[in-house]
Amino acid sequence: MRFSKIKDNDIANGLGVTMSLWTQGCPHHCKGCFNGETWDFDAGEEFEDSDLEYILENINKNNVHRDLSILGGEPLCPENVDGVIEVCKIFKEKFPEKKIYLWTGYVVEQFNEKQRNVLNYIDVLVDGPFVQAKRNLSLMMRGSSNQRVIDVKKSLDENKIVLFQD
Ligand code: SF4
Repeated sequence: MRFSKIKDNDIANGLGVTMSLWTQGCPHHCKGCFNGETWDFDAGEEFEDSDLEYILENINKNNVHRDLSILGGEPLCPENVDGVIEVCKIFKEKFPEKKIYLWTGYVVEQFNEKQRNVLNYIDVLVDGPFVQAKRNLSLMMRGSSNQRVIDVKKSLDENKIVLFQD
């Protein structure tokens, strides 16, 4: 898994303050993407154990409540999905009370088995590609109206897509 950057205090992705991890590499190439620097699978850096330790050690830094956001690039492409699941699993074991938000260009109904595994660890999933014709910057946590903000736990419990309400 490669990553582009980690931002300690992010107020633009998720509710409240999050620590945000941008994975590197995206196969979707959505027209109008505002994150084009994260497309290249060779750019960014390899995500090391020390990067995970940084997240775990700093998520509560200065007594600020932070949740975790994972964006891209594409966190759930074959190159990144194993690393992302590992991060989510270890993070959730250590901080079960904290939310994990994850953005993907894939649509949840089309997830493969490995991608579905991430649903065991995350709380909120924003799914689907950015579609320029459906661009709407007033929407919560998404850039186009085809994308959905999904309450993962409720969706698993009710065996249907339940949208996230803040
Ligand atoms: S999935 Fe996200 S990062 Fe990838 S091209 Fe689409 S908008 Fe850009």
